[in-house]
Amino acid sequence: MKVAKNTVVSIAYTLKDSEGNVLDAADTSEPLAYLHGIGNLIPGMEKALDNRDSGETFEAVIPPEEGYGAFDDDLVWELDKDQFGELGEVEVGTQFVLETEDDQVLVTVVEIRDEVVIVDGNHELADETLFFEITVLEVRDATPEELEHGHAHGPGSAHDHDHG
Ligand SMILES: [Zn+2]
Repeated sequence: MKVAKNTVVSIAYTLKDSEGNVLDAADTSEPLAYLHGIGNLIPGMEKALDNRDSGETFEAVIPPEEGYGAFDDDLVWELDKDQFGELGEVEVGTQFVLETEDDQVLVTVVEIRDEVVIVDGNHELADETLFFEITVLEVRDATPEELEHGHAHGPGSAHDHDHG
């Protein structure tokens, strides 16, 4: 069966950066399962997987625009250190959810100066060209429940939850 909209696809993959460092991986014993065609994966990955057959192994090079986006300066904020009173000790690498005027953004502390804490809400893979090797392990039709929920259920899915 081929990968198409509203199929559930199980894949094993290795993700490397442009220098060959492994950033992420899922092997055949713990594959990733997802509902294809509705944006559950980054656009470049869904595009590369579209119409593939189960059993196929292939490589995909995905530019930032189809991955985790270009680095956005608007997602970097300078915050007054006084605001961190309630959070206790803040250090570089600390992550928290920042409430902005119209959004909630997961940010990471990237720099601390005397009175200022600089936080960055860009994805850690922003600006990265992504080098995937992907094997399609299984393709099946989504169940009505999966279509209703907009994600895959069962082993390997990010939403392997109990629906009571
Ligand atoms: Zn669900």
